[in-house]
Amino acid sequence: MFPFRGVDYMEIDGLFSDQEKLVRQTVREFVDKEVIPHIEEWYRDGKFPMHLVSQMAELGFYGANMQGYGCAGMSNVEYGLIMQELERGDSGLRSFASAQGALVMYPIKEYGSEEQKQRWLPAMAQGKAIGCFGLTEPDFGSNPAGMRARAKKDGDQYILNGEKTWITSGTIADVALVWARAEDGVRGFLVERGTPGFTSKDIKGKMSLRASVTSSLSLQDVRVPASNMLPNVRGMKGPLSCLTQARYGIGWGAIGAAMACYNEALEYAKTRTQFDDKPIASHQLVQAKFAEMITEITKAQLLALQVGRLKDQGWADFAHVSMLKRNNVKIALDIARAARDILGANGVADEYPIFRHMCNLESVFTYEGTHNIHTLIIGERVTGIPAYK
Ligand SMILES: Cc1cc2nc3c(=O)[nH]c(=O)nc-3n(C[C@H](O)[C@H](O)[C@H](O)COP(=O)(O)OP(=O)(O)OC[C@H]3O[C@@H](n4cnc5c(N)ncnc54)[C@H](O)[C@@H]3O)c2cc1C
Repeated sequence: MFPFRGVDYMEIDGLFSDQEKLVRQTVREFVDKEVIPHIEEWYRDGKFPMHLVSQMAELGFYGANMQGYGCAGMSNVEYGLIMQELERGDSGLRSFASAQGALVMYPIKEYGSEEQKQRWLPAMAQGKAIGCFGLTEPDFGSNPAGMRARAKKDGDQYILNGEKTWITSGTIADVALVWARAEDGVRGFLVERGTPGFTSKDIKGKMSLRASVTSSLSLQDVRVPASNMLPNVRGMKGPLSCLTQARYGIGWGAIGAAMACYNEALEYAKTRTQFDDKPIASHQLVQAKFAEMITEITKAQLLALQVGRLKDQGWADFAHVSMLKRNNVKIALDIARAARDILGANGVADEYPIFRHMCNLESVFTYEGTHNIHTLIIGERVTGIPAYK
């Protein structure tokens, strides 16, 4: 793998503060030292690097853009840069951090009781507790509002029943935030590992995100105290607002995967020679690919930065984030495929990072709102007409 020195065609670094660049550099060094030398092996073995959980916590990666309760209190742009650099290493690491911070810590902070916040947030920020987010069901993915999971009140307890699937970190989580329909609407419940009736198992045979744990959750007459319900949110606003947080991080993360593929293909093309000992980078058809890639990366960087600045000013909403996620993941996937082509046969070998990123990005294209669903969200924003059904 070739060394990475950043990708900045349009002097975008000048738009970042010194503090933002310092955060990026810290994560970049962490990824270069702790992830890049080993990721090929973890991916091949389908293994999530559990030993990095505490190291990432020490660097403040979990809930980094949240204030208080032991969180790093960074800006949304700094948080985005963390996600970018983590995903340059591997989408699996970024997925772990997204689930932990945006999908579990964020709703506890926003909608939880003080007791829930005290119990979980410091422990999760320190990596001493792991969380997962259970929304998707076997029959309800793009349309989670159709969920079958049910919560029935029984005295000072709730009884939960249902199946959740494709849940990041499911089997390694100490606490699952499970969304289920109660009598008064969809509610979020904190279900601790080991609660009777609650089981989880890993989904095997993934050709994507192999260095990430993905699981199914089963809840059969699981009793949790009513105090485990997030008291301050009801309806689909709860899970959807978490998704907006996670999608924001994904929009940045995808740039990292795209930059890794671009960098690798560029260095390769400058040294690989064919026909009269000329580097393949000297051919117009190859250069056309690089021109396309760097243009799309530059546009993606500007889009992410603008959404980040809007978010820091309190103006970013879910439709802005949809454009960020939709565009940046799509261009990253296109760049990964083009970069794979530039490496020829070597492009399919896991000695190079491109095929792994490409496979990962297939999941990223699908999760947190598929590309189609984000198209419909943007379509509704500009026309005022919802076209989901
Ligand atoms: C590795 C991985 C990790 C994941 N982690 C989590 C997690 O931690 N927690 C969690 O809750 N979920 C998680 N998911 C699930 C993910 O969010 C869902 O896969 C996603 O929402 C899509 O749902 P689905 O797979 O059921 O596809 P479907 O909803 O069945 O969609 C299939 C296809 O139909 C298209 N489609 C559906 N409806 C429409 C429409 N109205 N118009 C146009 N096209 C449409 C979709 O765009 C897609 O192309 C994860 C998934 C993966 C792959």
